[in-house]
Amino acid sequence: MSVTGAGHNADLIVINGHVLTMDDDNPTAEAVAVKDGTIIAIGSRASIEELKGPATKVIDAKGGSVIPGFIEAHMHLFSGGAELAHLQLGGVHGFEALQKAIRDYAPTRPHAAMLVGQGVDYTVLGSERVTRHHLDQILPDRPFCMAAPDHHTMWANTKALVMAGILHGRTLGPGNEIVMGDDGLAAGELREGEAFGPVLDLAGESRVRLGLATGGEPDPMPSAEERAADRDIMRRGLAWCARHGITSIQNMDGNLYQLELLAEIEAAEGLPCRVQIPFHYKNFMTLDMLDKASVMTERYNSEWLSSGMVKVFYDGVLDSWTAVMVEPYADRTDWVGEPLFTPQQFIDLAVAVDRRGLQIAVHSIGDGAVRAVLDGYEAAQKANGKRDSRHRVEHIEVITTSDVPRFAELGVIASMQPPHPPGAMDFPLEPTVSRIGPARWPLSYAWRTLKNAGAHVVFASDWPVSPIDPILGIQAAVMRKPWAESDPDQSFSLHESLTAYTVEGAYAEFAEHRKGMLKPGYMADLVVLSDDIERTAPAELHRLRPVTTICGGKVTYQA
Ligand SMILES: [Zn+2]
Repeated sequence: MSVTGAGHNADLIVINGHVLTMDDDNPTAEAVAVKDGTIIAIGSRASIEELKGPATKVIDAKGGSVIPGFIEAHMHLFSGGAELAHLQLGGVHGFEALQKAIRDYAPTRPHAAMLVGQGVDYTVLGSERVTRHHLDQILPDRPFCMAAPDHHTMWANTKALVMAGILHGRTLGPGNEIVMGDDGLAAGELREGEAFGPVLDLAGESRVRLGLATGGEPDPMPSAEERAADRDIMRRGLAWCARHGITSIQNMDGNLYQLELLAEIEAAEGLPCRVQIPFHYKNFMTLDMLDKASVMTERYNSEWLSSGMVKVFYDGVLDSWTAVMVEPYADRTDWVGEPLFTPQQFIDLAVAVDRRGLQIAVHSIGDGAVRAVLDGYEAAQKANGKRDSRHRVEHIEVITTSDVPRFAELGVIASMQPPHPPGAMDFPLEPTVSRIGPARWPLSYAWRTLKNAGAHVVFASDWPVSPIDPILGIQAAVMRKPWAESDPDQSFSLHESLTAYTVEGAYAEFAEHRKGMLKPGYMADLVVLSDDIERTAPAELHRLRPVTTICGGKVTYQA
């Protein structure tokens, strides 16, 4: 065993565990000792118990795995926190069940200006499409809306449509639609953010969407009361992360306001997770607005709260044909999608961000988007010189053969989400697999292909798009099956999956020398699981629960 600070009592020790350090030089142990927020020793139970003093807190892992805290490399903390208070409709099927869920929920929120449901299946009423009339039958007198799991479609009752001023429809940007009924009025189905934004904003939570919708700041600035309510939303999201063993968050939407709220929580009681908040650059902005990204980075640069990143959306999603493809969609052969930036605009942006020394993370789902973004990173390297930039591509749901090796060549990180492949967890096979087409299946959600080509692959949930639970993500990664027998196996082993949620997550934020492993001198960020993960059958992994989460040496969750 190795000890730093020997001779001093530990603040906390974890004993009787199956410690998986994720450190190849010292892969397993029985116990861990922590002092001043840092790991001071890893070793046998006896050696660690020598560091126990009268005030040392002792955590008995009871034979469960002890692993580095999960690093969630792509999520949306503020909106996720808000959604936790909404009605959860996942798994609800049939009119009766929907009616019961909504009618049970409504009285529990007597003062809500808008009742909101989340996670409702597109086929909740079987083959019948949901309309405002169904929802009026269930709840006629209060405004109600509910969102599909992918957050791209919502349905609202008449009361909500009237209050939002969209019962008679409205002209919207491409890709957004208020579906109209035969009676010339809105049918209740609202496609994409511009369509459902006016309804959702009535919930009094419009500020949680700013970091995604515009990247801008609240205007007018919120009152003290609103700010306190927003801090509580953040607290709820942070507690949800800690409960799932997460100790570091790489958020994928952002503005200064989110950093301010988190800094206020840190000052009041400390943060239960470390958080990185990017600046979100939208296609209507000009390059001088990157000054704000630099300001965010200078102002927040601690190990608890940081920025240093610019988040960009290059395309949309496959299911609405808004992802950008190299070749046309299999089920829409005259269409390759429409990018949110022209390739040249993106190159200019990448060069400008890279010149500031900031990291770039770009939502790129189609293979055409992935290519354009890699072209931008290559141009930045040519213009500014090669440096350790660790720019990222988010999602990469489809990629072409020729772009696979460019990740390793350019030092670009592949940020992938194990819950996302259709059929892997909650998302159905259709319509996505038909949209992609069998010719592209071998290089769809191609974690293995990218890793084998030398790319750094980080895993995440994209919460609240998918459930936040990293253990569910690990199970999905380990159990991943090809869609056709001829397709390559893209699954990850347990150890590779854990690596993608710990070691690679640390690498993605330039912190591999401080976190992602259990090692003396590293941050005391760890999680104790309810059982030994290495002895758990893949199909049973979901039964494992975090029992104790420790971040910076503090217990942030205890079952
Ligand atoms: Zn996302």
